[in-house]
Amino acid sequence: MCGTCGCVGGSGAGGGGTRISVPHAHPHGHDRVHPGGAGAAGETITLEQKVLVKNDGLAAHNRAWLAERGIVAVNMMSSPGAGKTTLLERTVRNFAGRRPVAVVEGDQETALDAERIRRAGGTVVQINTGAGCHLDAGMVRGALATLEPGAGSLVLVENVGNLVCPALFDLGERSRAVIISVTEGTDKPLKYPYMFAAADLVIINKIDLLPYVDFDVEQCEKYARSVNPELRVLTVSATTGEGMADWYDWVARP
Ligand code: MG
Repeated sequence: MCGTCGCVGGSGAGGGGTRISVPHAHPHGHDRVHPGGAGAAGETITLEQKVLVKNDGLAAHNRAWLAERGIVAVNMMSSPGAGKTTLLERTVRNFAGRRPVAVVEGDQETALDAERIRRAGGTVVQINTGAGCHLDAGMVRGALATLEPGAGSLVLVENVGNLVCPALFDLGERSRAVIISVTEGTDKPLKYPYMFAAADLVIINKIDLLPYVDFDVEQCEKYARSVNPELRVLTVSATTGEGMADWYDWVARP
């Protein structure tokens, strides 16, 4: 059990239909909070390294499998409530009839988001991580086997809502997008730099709410680029559709 985020190596509750519950180990650098002396911390680090090496191997397998089929996968990460699922619903509707979109939904529990994607017309599989705080490459491998996305598909992976742990795990995706909403703090990129450093794109969502909140878009962009100068930044409202065309262009680029 990890004392920092409560993530444990056990599996979550089972689900029906296309839900997958996955046991996983926990490789974070949390040795400071684990009980025990220097020996225990050393063993923890060794286990963490082994888990990450194993994950990287599976991610490489996923990446090759996707590339062979001309499938583009994007790992979508954010804190809970930033609007990932709403953005995905609109994205699925946008590409309907033009390009197949398959979605991997990651949540600790429930198939609520998968049901939303299905209602929007998307092909979807829900992964429940139980106490786990992120998706890993093995989970995505299993989801791809279930989804069987066709050649040329987009595979959008909605990671577990969390700006910390998902940054550590390569899933085999082509790109990583971080979604931050204007109801969060402008300083999120400074507080969670590893997530922003690992990303290719930042989507600032819910811009329709800007008149009602204290959020500085320009400053947030500056903070994000101070962590990662290569970042592309888009401002959108997944609710109204404003700015979404830029996201569609980005995700569908060759
Ligand atoms: Mg969601």
